[in-house]
Amino acid sequence: MLRADEYSRYSRHLLLENMDEEGQLALKQATVALFGVGGLGHQVGATLISAGLGKLMLIDDDIVELSNLPRQWLFDEGSLGLAKVEAAKQRLQSLRRECHIDTFKTYIIDSNLSEHLLTADIIVDCTDNLDGRLAINQFCYQHNVPLITAAASGMISTIMPIKPGEPHGCYACISGSVSPQTHCVDKGIYSPIVAMAGQFQAMLALNYLTGIAPVNWGQLHRFDAEKLTLRTFNVGRDPACNVCRDTHES
Ligand SMILES: [Zn+2]
Repeated sequence: MLRADEYSRYSRHLLLENMDEEGQLALKQATVALFGVGGLGHQVGATLISAGLGKLMLIDDDIVELSNLPRQWLFDEGSLGLAKVEAAKQRLQSLRRECHIDTFKTYIIDSNLSEHLLTADIIVDCTDNLDGRLAINQFCYQHNVPLITAAASGMISTIMPIKPGEPHGCYACISGSVSPQTHCVDKGIYSPIVAMAGQFQAMLALNYLTGIAPVNWGQLHRFDAEKLTLRTFNVGRDPACNVCRDTHES
């Protein structure tokens, strides 16, 4: 049962037609692993913690740099030079003391990190490079963990929820075509689309963890900030992909 203060705190969500105490309690008991504490990760972390998440793992090996500040508002000028995971933890923890936050200053999925990742109900990928996204996608397929991945570059962002075992394609199937691949250092990045994509990821995670709305696994959403269009595609499996093929056939 929720405590009296929790009823009050989450009252606006609990008033929603498809949200109930059971969904709120499920979120309180849930664990999310968040890869990347940059522009996307700020949105995801802050929204999930504020909404009542039980446990969050922050994974990132970067330090805070001046060029991060326009998009990464959990950091301020006093955060420069600090590890992103520690600076973010400090701010996120102040949003809700009760949430348990673990930090990992690495991107390497070694046996230690892997052990922790396996306790996650879902992984949210907010990394900013293709190799990292492919490695996380592969881990999720190897261990049957749902994944919400996103990328943003220039004026475009893409978001896709992926569930191993489902018949849709995986991130590796489409990484060569529709998803932005260039790093923001190469092509620049428009700050508002990062916030939008991060909130989209947070929404999909909340939908999954609370059951408030269905998640259409395998659908890729592409937002274009210049045309102001949001398009959705069903991602089919690439028969040549050896990441989702193995899982699907097993
Ligand atoms: Zn695939």
